[in-house]
Amino acid sequence: MERRTFLNKTAKLTALSMVGVNSLTNSVAASTEDRYLLNSKNSTAMGPIPDYQNVTTVVKLKGKEVKVHALCTGTVAVKRNFRTKKGVGELAKLNILLDKHYTDYLPIWVWVIEHPEGIVVIDTGEISAIKDLDRYLAKEGGFLRYQFKHAAKFRMEEKEELNYRFDEINLKLEDVRLVALTHLDHTDGLKFFPKQEIIVGDYEYNHPNANMSSTYPSWFRPNKVNYLPDRIEVFQKAYPITSSEDLLYIPTPGHTLGHSSIVFKTDNFDIIFAGDTSYNQAQVLHGELAGVNADYTKSKETYNNLVKYATNRKTIYLPTHDEDAGNRLKNSLFLV
Ligand SMILES: [Zn+2]
Repeated sequence: MERRTFLNKTAKLTALSMVGVNSLTNSVAASTEDRYLLNSKNSTAMGPIPDYQNVTTVVKLKGKEVKVHALCTGTVAVKRNFRTKKGVGELAKLNILLDKHYTDYLPIWVWVIEHPEGIVVIDTGEISAIKDLDRYLAKEGGFLRYQFKHAAKFRMEEKEELNYRFDEINLKLEDVRLVALTHLDHTDGLKFFPKQEIIVGDYEYNHPNANMSSTYPSWFRPNKVNYLPDRIEVFQKAYPITSSEDLLYIPTPGHTLGHSSIVFKTDNFDIIFAGDTSYNQAQVLHGELAGVNADYTKSKETYNNLVKYATNRKTIYLPTHDEDAGNRLKNSLFLV
């Protein structure tokens, strides 16, 4: 979820919502997206909280077995217009605030690869401190807190935080070699990695959509990386995370302008750990954009690149808040 983009873009629009533009914005609807909403299994707002179990699978890398884990660190329900764009242009942002309906509680996945070059973690998950938003965002100003509280609801317990999840899969946080952030929003679990190398895209770091840096640990100094040319088909540019270049940090802008995903090229298929590129796989296949996006055009281009890439190579697509991502990882279900 990209709270920064949402908060930034909706600041001026909130004022409008208070002077009666509700009927105007409700009349602007994108038919494809509405159809999806009607058909969505999430049309019941905030149903029972699903129990997203850890998933561990084994892939082959140069003939050797490598474990990949999906760990769920709590759940979040977001406004349905946050997940699914409704309305044209900036009205889509306003419609998020006006929406009274929430999705069901969605997972907040963290991905762990027991790579031969060292354990790699993708994004840092959620922490239970988020439940007390007034305290957690105390230094970010009341207006931001107000909007954040009106876009997302978190449900999680301390035992769902990453240290407990690591215990469950018999790994130690201190053994992690590198943490790759898809964007500067999946940072709440940074506290678990004070000694590790943390990478984030240089552009993402220098052009954040808004700044909520009070939530970062004081020691947070990520390695700001730049993509190198001609490293991967379709996406072209990539920053190699491993020297074997089987783990690549690739540009997938849209949700934020500097958003990246991570491609893991195994012997038999690829896995794309996609952050908030979309909320789920269906959105990419149907061309359905999320409401919360820094750039809808770039988001659509990223969707096209994902489908093109997955057409050439068997690819498992794993966004952070996808309810079915654990299942697809476990059963090797491909994007196309
Ligand atoms: Zn996000």
